Amino acid sequence: MTNKGLLVVLSGPSGTGKGTVLKAYFAKHPEARLSVSATTRAPRPGEQDGREYFFVSKEEFQQMQQEHALLESAEYCGNCYGTPLAPIEAWLQKGYDVFLEIEVQGGAQVQKLLPDSVGIFILPPSAAELANRLRGRGTEAEAVVQKRLHAAKEEILQAKQYDYAVVNDTVEQAVEDIAAILYAEKHKTSRN
Ligand code: 5GP
Repeated sequence: MTNKGLLVVLSGPSGTGKGTVLKAYFAKHPEARLSVSATTRAPRPGEQDGREYFFVSKEEFQQMQQEHALLESAEYCGNCYGTPLAPIEAWLQKGYDVFLEIEVQGGAQVQKLLPDSVGIFILPPSAAELANRLRGRGTEAEAVVQKRLHAAKEEILQAKQYDYAVVNDTVEQAVEDIAAILYAEKHKTSRN
């Protein structure tokens, strides 16, 4: 089996609980690292620069793009998001599994650029549950919730471009499923 770290692209509509699943995964798996993206979106209450995101201006984001400092980038609901390349290369070399929590356009870019990466799509148990979770978060105005629900429906249609789909019914099961996927990937004869 390979000792090299895996690059894992994890996507799923806003409100599927990706963040909660990842938090639980990282609590159990010290060999994993989460990429911190750059974004032009404003911080939500409680978010810290350099922890959830690097919050940057449009100009700073464009500069990162021009300097090829981003592995991928995409526009989502009017804001720019991108994955800084340097930390990922360093972590993979050290053998860590690196997770990118990104939307589908960025996911497609990474899978094309790095076919060895593992794509996992997180699905909500149902559309109704997704709407509940988005509203329950209470951090977004109804118009934003509607915009995100629409984006979610579009995104779910892209699930098939990922290697695996995991339904986030319970966080514990979703975490186990992701661990099982990584375990199997590391035992693929083609990686050795
Ligand atoms: P949010 O604004 O809710 O934090 O994120 C909105 C969407 O942007 C989510 O689907 C999230 O996964 C995605 N996202 C976060 N960082 C990146 C990134 O670096 N690249 C891309 N392509 N999408 C990202």
